[in-house]
Amino acid sequence: MVDKELLFPYDKLRDEQKQLIEDTRKAIDEGKNFLVHAPTGLGKTIGVLGPALKHAIENNKTVFFLTSRHTQHLLAIKTLRDIDRNFSIGINCCDLIAKKWMCSQPGAENMPSAEFNEYCKALREDKLCEFFENSRKKGKLSSKAEAALEQIKAKMPADTEIINTICRNEKLCPYETAMFLAKKANVIIADYNYMFNARIRDNFLLKSGKKIKESIIIVDEGHNLPQRCRNMLSEKLSTYAITMAIKEAKKFGYHEEIEKLSFLLEVMKDLASGLEEKEEEYVLKREFVKKIDDVMNYDEVQDRFMIIGDEIREQQRRSFIGSIARFMDMWKGPDKAYGRTINIKETKYGIVLTLNYRCLDPSIISKEVVNESKATIMMSGTLTPTEMYADLLGFKNYVMKEYRDIFSERNRLNLIVEDVTTKYTARNNEQYKKTAEILAEITNAVPGNSFVFFPSYQLRNYVHRHFESQSRKRIFLELRGMSTEEKNKFLAGFKGNKKRGGVMLGVAQGSFGEGVDLPGDLLECVIIVGVPLQKPDLETRDLIAYYDEKFGEGMNYGYIYPAITKAMQNAGRCIRSEKDRGVVVFMDARYAWDSYRKCFPADWNMQITKRWKERVGEFFKSSNSE
Ligand code: SF4
Repeated sequence: MVDKELLFPYDKLRDEQKQLIEDTRKAIDEGKNFLVHAPTGLGKTIGVLGPALKHAIENNKTVFFLTSRHTQHLLAIKTLRDIDRNFSIGINCCDLIAKKWMCSQPGAENMPSAEFNEYCKALREDKLCEFFENSRKKGKLSSKAEAALEQIKAKMPADTEIINTICRNEKLCPYETAMFLAKKANVIIADYNYMFNARIRDNFLLKSGKKIKESIIIVDEGHNLPQRCRNMLSEKLSTYAITMAIKEAKKFGYHEEIEKLSFLLEVMKDLASGLEEKEEEYVLKREFVKKIDDVMNYDEVQDRFMIIGDEIREQQRRSFIGSIARFMDMWKGPDKAYGRTINIKETKYGIVLTLNYRCLDPSIISKEVVNESKATIMMSGTLTPTEMYADLLGFKNYVMKEYRDIFSERNRLNLIVEDVTTKYTARNNEQYKKTAEILAEITNAVPGNSFVFFPSYQLRNYVHRHFESQSRKRIFLELRGMSTEEKNKFLAGFKGNKKRGGVMLGVAQGSFGEGVDLPGDLLECVIIVGVPLQKPDLETRDLIAYYDEKFGEGMNYGYIYPAITKAMQNAGRCIRSEKDRGVVVFMDARYAWDSYRKCFPADWNMQITKRWKERVGEFFKSSNSE
């Protein structure tokens, strides 16, 4: 039922999806923010993009579709193309990814983001970027860039790949050219940074001429936004970075600075002098500042490092000295809503000390954006408890809704096995043995592939020792910190094993816990062993204390709910569309507790069982006979 009034370009409009469209339209018309928990497969993207676009076109507003995933950029573009093909409403779209991924300078994509921004700025200011120079003439678009823009417009709605290819062929800067595209765009697809990172946003809004209050902002995979915002406001300094900065100073002949940097190294060691028995401890702002001020002037050192960093970036892409200046600047920031710690870690570079300045409150940057916008729609398949996200991000004037998981009811079996636990106090060899035994019984009963997620690699390794002799499936072990190439190769091997059935043993926070789609019969079972709680380190303790003071919900907001969200994300790898069928098993006694169970959507119908092997066997038998 293609519907022009709803801008719905597909044949089948389900009741839940129609409701989502109506609710989104109402929220935008009333200028309210809208928090949406809606399961995978419901069709969220068209459900919110259609009404947002309609409102934007009729009222001269701009839709921002913010997502951190490449696949979601592509899905949003595809949805716009489907709308355009059916209704020809004149969509002007600009698809933006992080600037370093759009940059025409070779090797830019390998630089850390903060370093890249300094590098790009220095090149532009010194007129050393030929691509930038080719793109602009006296502050306006050059004729070459104008011609490229026409080529891009002819391919509307164009994705970043089209923009990059056309601009690189013409030796232009894709980002600068895209800014001119953004000026006329009624839909901008971009990473969260373009709205929630103050520096990137201000620069982007200035160049594109867009205004927050004239924007309808859609935040996709919104459960990730709190941590992303915290990361944007956090900074760290390591002894590794200082050692590299000393090498840099030697290489470029900044001999006076070598002494200052060596002293900084001593300051770090001094701050960490209490770390003999423990891995981390708190540091006060004044401790670090005073130790430097006692010997030299903190502000003067910071300024000098900043200037040197800029000078070095004219000759090479990154500067460790410049990054130290950035940290010193951040360290002078407020104490409220921030944590300051130093920790020690054994790394591939040897023992490394790291001084951390971590933000605890994402609403510092999110609340202005969401409350100033015409309407912000935040959606996710794991946005429960929804009111927590409203609190964490500082939403005002909002409505929220949880949509029913219509596929889960018939396509998914959700089991709780309470016979084991990964609680710290209960960890022992007997638990690992028992866990391995149950895992083998379940995965052996699954006809195809299974994913098993553990809270840590260490725990995974303990269980794996007992599991391998009992499993009849091929075992795939996820490795820590896999590159994209390694991940793709690993997944290709895993998928190729679906007939015989494989078992991937990984960790909840690892490479495959989120953002991996294995549709159809490529994945038939997901098992979450234990609760993927954060390590109870100082940052976690700070979060708990902060949210206790702010909302009286420290343990829930700072510790338990983020772990449940992670477990739900892991579970979501199994059912990606209405046709997928699968089993999800939550293996830990705590999932049976009311305080944990109430965090899951009611329609997940989680059932405690002692007959896990039989239940799984029966489920797949009934699936095959349908
Ligand atoms: S101006 Fe453009 S091409 Fe030049 S460094 Fe910056 S992003 Fe890269």
